[in-house]
Amino acid sequence: MAEKMGKIAVVTDVNTVEVREYPVPDAADDGLVIKIETCSICGSDKFNLTSKPAGPRPIGHEFVGRIVSIGANANQTIHCFNGQLALGDRIVVYPHVTCGGCEICLTYGNGNCICQNDWMYGGKKLDPKKKLNSIPSEYPYFKGGFAEYVYIVPNTFVWKVPDDMPSTVAVLLDPCAVAMRAVEQTMTTIGALDEGTSVTSRALIIGAGPIGIMAGMILRTMGVEQLLFTDFNDQKLGNAKEISGADDVVNLSGLTLEEKIAKVKDVTSGGPNIIIAAANSPTAAYEGLQMIRPLGTYVEIGAINKGASPDGPVLANNILFKKNAHITSVVANTPTCFNRSFSMLKRWRQLPFQRLITHEFNRLEDLVPTSMHMSDPDYLKGVLVWK
Ligand SMILES: [Zn+2]
Ligand SMILES: [Zn+2]
Repeated sequence: MAEKMGKIAVVTDVNTVEVREYPVPDAADDGLVIKIETCSICGSDKFNLTSKPAGPRPIGHEFVGRIVSIGANANQTIHCFNGQLALGDRIVVYPHVTCGGCEICLTYGNGNCICQNDWMYGGKKLDPKKKLNSIPSEYPYFKGGFAEYVYIVPNTFVWKVPDDMPSTVAVLLDPCAVAMRAVEQTMTTIGALDEGTSVTSRALIIGAGPIGIMAGMILRTMGVEQLLFTDFNDQKLGNAKEISGADDVVNLSGLTLEEKIAKVKDVTSGGPNIIIAAANSPTAAYEGLQMIRPLGTYVEIGAINKGASPDGPVLANNILFKKNAHITSVVANTPTCFNRSFSMLKRWRQLPFQRLITHEFNRLEDLVPTSMHMSDPDYLKGVLVWK
């Protein structure tokens, strides 16, 4: 009998994806094979699609699939947060697989994604000497979510998706966990003065994209006094307000730096004491830092190492010493934070997570064309849905 074949998207060049076919393996004793139902495009996927890969690589780490093959020991080797795994279960994964033995893993626990030997589904580790690599032509082939199947390796953290939760909601686990981690950073009490997020917090989210909106949904659910979004586009701000239940939105386009700061301070009666920057923009960070209320907390989600303002040191001096602000970022994440994100997603009937899915596509060939819409004002999240 001919081997069963499955399709996978392989990035071979800038904005170039080849749809390849490989034999679908059966799960080894310690693994699983899932048939993909949904896979969403992450902001980092856009970066990965527009950068030249070192070699052909898979892509996609935000995925949900149904178990079609399960190893005899899979329930010992794969960490499921909510019960035993069985054939036919739908699962969503924590996309990082860590080594458990490096200094980071020993210090902060297995699963922390800054593990020195971190491997990721849909990642780019192409060293053939490593057993766990992302080389598409090497067994078990299905190593990224933009595919028909994914092979789930030992030491993966997973969640069973409740029967009534749509795969288009569960697929948001990863970006919602980034939002969750950002909010949790605001709860880290540094000294006795900073109270972090509370019922009196005035929170500003910079950037009305999907992660910013989900951070707003979490802060709203936690009961902040005021929730404000800034962006440069009315349609994006309108979506953010409706989906998150924000109190206010401010379109900053056309304003000078001084006007922007004055406007935000005015709307928040003196400046936000919580700022989550989800715009991935050094300029927005430079501006946002100047809006923070004294003793406030500023969390940067994006990578702002490129194009930082030449005034940075002066600014840091002013904020750190005059405002005593707490500035932090979101890089490291953990399965336990994903578990709290999963709890948020379970409220999908009350909270309109599905409105974040704006661009659905049904073929791997449409991954790159869909990613081209990412900066459109009506785009929040593109998702592959297998029919
Ligand atoms: Zn992601
Ligand atoms: Zn490690």
